Amino acid sequence: MLLFQHDGSKRADYVGCGVVIEDIMHGYRLDTSCSIFTAEAVAIYRALQLIDSTMPRKYCIYTDSMSVLEALENYHDRCHPVVCTILVITSRLYSKGFDIVFCWLPSHVGIIGNEQADSAAKSATTHLPLAVPLSDMKRVIMHHIFKIWQESWSQQLDNKLHSVKPVIGAWPVMPMRRTDVKLTRLRIGHTRFTHRHLLFGERAPECPSCHVSYTVHHILIDCPVFNHHRMTFFNSSHLTLPDLVGEIPHQNLFAFIKKIGFLYLI
Ligand SMILES: [Zn+2]
Repeated sequence: MLLFQHDGSKRADYVGCGVVIEDIMHGYRLDTSCSIFTAEAVAIYRALQLIDSTMPRKYCIYTDSMSVLEALENYHDRCHPVVCTILVITSRLYSKGFDIVFCWLPSHVGIIGNEQADSAAKSATTHLPLAVPLSDMKRVIMHHIFKIWQESWSQQLDNKLHSVKPVIGAWPVMPMRRTDVKLTRLRIGHTRFTHRHLLFGERAPECPSCHVSYTVHHILIDCPVFNHHRMTFFNSSHLTLPDLVGEIPHQNLFAFIKKIGFLYLI
């Protein structure tokens, strides 16, 4: 007996999954907080429940979810709750004499059972009362917190850090700790050269050509004294801070600041 299960279907306001057994389509709607992985796992869980009440004993469950099959293979005590349930049911079915194999089927290759399960997953109206797994709920809460944080940050256009990092989130770390520290100082605009006067009660250092206080922005972007170096290292003298110290810093950034004598003053 062949049984097709389609991975979850997820849109902003809809999460569903589908199972096809003996040409009968079963579609289930899940809580919108559920992840695709949960929907995929629930489809297998429902397939096993459907099998439980049938007479035939030999089944091949086709699924297009490699990630759920891998999770079933690599069981550990903190695994996904639906994956645990699948393992419990499978074990019970085996002990009742069922012979069940799982088979991975690439999605969207035109296999009829899979396509039917796909449409069942996308148009389900039957709500499946299932507790949302903690990991899914955490992801939804994190997403919501980030959204609120981003909305607040997007309004702080006067904050000098905003132009450097308009979109919040973790940035990659440089492999060399020392380089990473220097890059962070450039990004936040605080260096020994531009700020040490505060500690020592001295006058702020001033650019002798422009007669303005030295800032990281002045040194990297504004000061015309370094224009020919900017042309050499960046092929342009019209730059912005994100061009040089954004998420992916310019590959010639450190060569430039070394050439202008700023590297060891950061
Ligand atoms: Zn200057």
